Amino acid sequence: MLVFGGTGDLALHKLLPALYHLHCQGLLADDNHILALARQEFTREAYLSLVERHCRMHIALADFDERAWAGFSRRIQYFKLDANNASSFSALRGQLDLARERVYYLAVAPSLFTPIVHHLQLSGLATSQTRIVIEKPIGHNLASAKTINTAIGQVFAEHQVFRIDHYLGKEAVQNLLALRFGNALFEPLWRGQSIDHVQISVCETLGVESRGDYYEHAGALRDMVQNHLLQLLCLVAMEAPETYQAEAIRDEKVKVLHALKPITGQDVLDKTVRGQYGQGQVSGHRVPAYYFEKNVDNDSNTETFVALEVEVDNWRWAGVPFYLRTGKRLEQKCSEIIITFKALNRSLFGDVSPNRLVIRLQPDESITLQLMTKAPGRGMRLEASALNLHFSQKAGQAKRWDAYERLLLDTLEGDSTLFMRRDEVEAAWAWIDPILQGWQIYYQTPKTYPAGSQGPEQAQALLANHGREWYRA
Ligand code: NAD
Repeated sequence: MLVFGGTGDLALHKLLPALYHLHCQGLLADDNHILALARQEFTREAYLSLVERHCRMHIALADFDERAWAGFSRRIQYFKLDANNASSFSALRGQLDLARERVYYLAVAPSLFTPIVHHLQLSGLATSQTRIVIEKPIGHNLASAKTINTAIGQVFAEHQVFRIDHYLGKEAVQNLLALRFGNALFEPLWRGQSIDHVQISVCETLGVESRGDYYEHAGALRDMVQNHLLQLLCLVAMEAPETYQAEAIRDEKVKVLHALKPITGQDVLDKTVRGQYGQGQVSGHRVPAYYFEKNVDNDSNTETFVALEVEVDNWRWAGVPFYLRTGKRLEQKCSEIIITFKALNRSLFGDVSPNRLVIRLQPDESITLQLMTKAPGRGMRLEASALNLHFSQKAGQAKRWDAYERLLLDTLEGDSTLFMRRDEVEAAWAWIDPILQGWQIYYQTPKTYPAGSQGPEQAQALLANHGREWYRA
């Protein structure tokens, strides 16, 4: 595996710790090697000490084993390379055993994707024996995503391209598929006749941290909705694939993206809410407003929060709103999908809450089915109870997989089931672009919300107008 951007945050904090875990589990072949590439001058020893320093911060103390680390570090080499320089790639070629299969992991800014694939091609390193992995952001709109995809597509066949969305590597996300397609129970109910609405929330307590530069030009819609939230929506809404194979699953996901009703014209005013965090308190600490963050314009118009009412315009989902919401500096860190079933037409027992299926991805992965049961004691009073499946509690039986571990192993094995195909990425952008345009046309400036709150009031109103509210555990 060749990691371009081997000195960057993604490589040091996510990829190398995940590869270490795979090594410890005996899942890397003896002759799997990691070649880290970046512009800085490093001896191998200096690079290894950089990696060790960072990995120790990201690997639990109990999992850090000195002997295993020594074995893992023997797999790692470092090579100085400037992605914009053709001669660097000729020199790189001289370092490689060309008969071997290779995975190129592009842990670099997207502006380097095109020069890297171009130079890989020119230096003869883009063979049928190779794969390429890229991370979001894949473009900032449909046109730029197409430019990147076309540049990559001129060098690598689609089956060689692995577009990572690490949400898809989460255990609970795959469990959503197991739940839907491995149980007879839910299928008859998984449709507009029985489901009132769906919520997908990805809430963070962190602010923009050190990513102000990038985030100022992205915002929550591009950074989170275009990829993670729409991917989750696809998994909830898609039809059963013919087989559990990459192409069949991706065919079904892309059909959902095509069925999303466009939010155009004045609809952006009624169906979307943009927010930006002001100063406030998160976990007892005072935090500054977004526009005071480093590398952020103090007159910034970037949204750090977005809420949307989305319609999937097909037979299964007609009339069922999907409410999506994501934001930074919110009250609680939590990623969850909530399926709320319709209320009973008639109740024998007074007030009964509708059944809910809560699929939680963060902080602890779990699935909960909320049912009404009899309150203990005399009389026939009902109360809400939960059937819980906590994966962290089951984890004693088997090691829990980190999303990157699973996805890295899949790239090594060439399994693209959990990766996004070109048409998915582009269909998602085709739906996002009109919202971005609408915000411009209607001067939709973000509404301020205090850091540590639930987001702007307008996001509450989006649901309250239909007699609903955002789910709170
Ligand atoms: P970073 O700035 O920390 O690292 C960038 C890396 O690219 C460094 O190793 C740098 O030396 C290298 N680099 C820069 N210019 C180069 C050149 N001309 N030639 C060779 N190497 C060069 O960035 P990052 O946080 O690691 O993110 C990398 C990419 O992954 C970005 O597109 C980011 O949006 C995406 N991403 C990052 C994360 C994360 O957790 N950090 C998560 C998802 C996606």
